[in-house]
Amino acid sequence: MDLQERIQHIESRVQAACNRSNRNRKEIEIIAVTKYVSLETAVNAVKFGCKHIGENRWPDAEKKVSLLGSKSTMHFIGHLQSKKVKHIIGKFPYIHSIDRNSLAKEIEKQAIIHDVNVNCFIQVNVSGEESKYGVSPDELFTFAESLTPYKHLNIIGLMTMAPFEQDKEKTRPVFRELKQLRDRLNEKQIFNYKIRHLSMGMSNDFEIAIEEGATFIRLGSQLVGKE
Ligand SMILES: *Cc1c(COP(=O)(O)O)cnc(C)c1O
Repeated sequence: MDLQERIQHIESRVQAACNRSNRNRKEIEIIAVTKYVSLETAVNAVKFGCKHIGENRWPDAEKKVSLLGSKSTMHFIGHLQSKKVKHIIGKFPYIHSIDRNSLAKEIEKQAIIHDVNVNCFIQVNVSGEESKYGVSPDELFTFAESLTPYKHLNIIGLMTMAPFEQDKEKTRPVFRELKQLRDRLNEKQIFNYKIRHLSMGMSNDFEIAIEEGATFIRLGSQLVGKE
């Protein structure tokens, strides 16, 4: 399949997952993760309709951001070192990997300097795998509370990565738990607004994530490929 066909094929699988779970297709945004592909392929992905682009490293993402930042919405999806924040601020309207207070504090500081607001997801390590970043489900509520002074961070949702499973069905409890955590955050009224978004689901498991309530899915290899 070429790029355009792959994009169409993913779209039909997203639609089918929506149908199975009685969801409206409009509730779900697809982030094309371009970290494995060339600048040219990333440009073509936008040309073929991808509205959201995800990258996980700076400065690797720099060229893509400068070329695509005005034509698409950039998402920073990877682990973020505080010292890199000054480079990415204002270029990525969404950051999916808020996992410690020192990082949030630095984003707030740079956001004030650049006079921007940043849409943020708290990354939660639901599966508890040691190799994964994110706060533990137990820490989530205290952590969320600690973010409320940062007025330039719009905390819009939670993000998680499920373990890679041959049997995709095994990822379902991870996604289900992230949704429950979001609902509990809202019940506790930690923020004075409702948190809506769930950034979950990758190439291997996005259909399960959609069935469990994902609002942003992050697709690399299956959507734009690996070069
Ligand atoms: C690379 C990456 C993805 C996309 O991975 P695929 O399995 O290729 O779809 C999604 N989310 C994060 C955080 C990533 O680093």
